[in-house]
Amino acid sequence: KESRAMKFQRQHMDPDGPSNNSNYCNQMMRRRHMTEGRCKPVNTFVHEPLVDVQAVCLQGNITCKNGQPNCHKSSSSMKITDCRVTRGSKYPNCDYRTSQKERHIIVACEGNPYVPVHFDASV
Ligand code: 5GP
Repeated sequence: KESRAMKFQRQHMDPDGPSNNSNYCNQMMRRRHMTEGRCKPVNTFVHEPLVDVQAVCLQGNITCKNGQPNCHKSSSSMKITDCRVTRGSKYPNCDYRTSQKERHIIVACEGNPYVPVHFDASV
């Protein structure tokens, strides 16, 4: 079974991206299996080395949106792509808007090793 850590990598890691392409989210949301059963409405991909994203688990500790205490905010801003389903997108034809940004990321971490398992927000 896919671990929560592997699921985070599937849903959120694209260190070699982004291809500078308005179809990025349409392609990647599909390729990473987030358009099966429904169109996942909002999803962020991070374009930084995996070790740098894992290191966020050692950076500023904050409360997650769901009230859990195990969120961490990156001390540096990171290259990300924000994918957001368009109004008018109708499953199974999931249509996304692609926005490149540089933001601090907030992830939830768990386990031993203590690694990212959830993407909470970018700020
Ligand atoms: P909205 O902007 O539509 O009110 O809410 C979207 C929220 O989802 C934002 O706060 C944004 O930071 C957050 N968000 C962005 N990417 C992801 C993601 O990949 N997973 C989850 N669970 N939330 C995300």
